Amino acid sequence: MVRNFLLSNSSLDLIVPISFLAYCKYVVYNVFNKMCCKDYLYNTKGIPMNSIGEETKNALDKILLAYKIQPVGWGYIDCITIKENVYGFIKSLTELDIKVTDITWWCHCAIGGNKETGCPHGGGGPMSKYFDGWFSEMYQIPNVKIKVNNEIIPYVFNEWPNTKEYLPCLIPAFWLDVPDDWRNTIDCI
Ligand SMILES: [Zn+2]
Repeated sequence: MVRNFLLSNSSLDLIVPISFLAYCKYVVYNVFNKMCCKDYLYNTKGIPMNSIGEETKNALDKILLAYKIQPVGWGYIDCITIKENVYGFIKSLTELDIKVTDITWWCHCAIGGNKETGCPHGGGGPMSKYFDGWFSEMYQIPNVKIKVNNEIIPYVFNEWPNTKEYLPCLIPAFWLDVPDDWRNTIDCI
């Protein structure tokens, strides 16, 4: 089409570029529209849902089980994660296109506390479902805001140990950017 346009020397000169531009606009519009639709479909409550929402949620729930993640409450905020499983959990979330928005820190305490480490720290929290002891929220440490998932591993393993708030007993909890009405299946275990 472009070649015809370039070689032609007739009134088609005007028609061809207009139709070609219209075609380009159509292609760009459709690609853009598909990209947007993926993230901005709405469920019956008017809450934005990913177009593959149910599949994504099922995959997410399996990941939580596989990495022994403990969300606090029924949603997907404060997903407490032992340090050994942080890398695998974040990698799996990123593959699912699920973004982390915040990190909070929790003291992983032995029952009765630990004199050597000074535990328990923080303001209390739930018993661990998978490990010995319980988790206590470090409410005095502000949430760490995350822009892209790639920031998380360097932050947790390189930057965080050099901050003044660091304590060896603290483990991270991740806040996931998923629809507000999603309920995790871990709470039922
Ligand atoms: Zn502690």
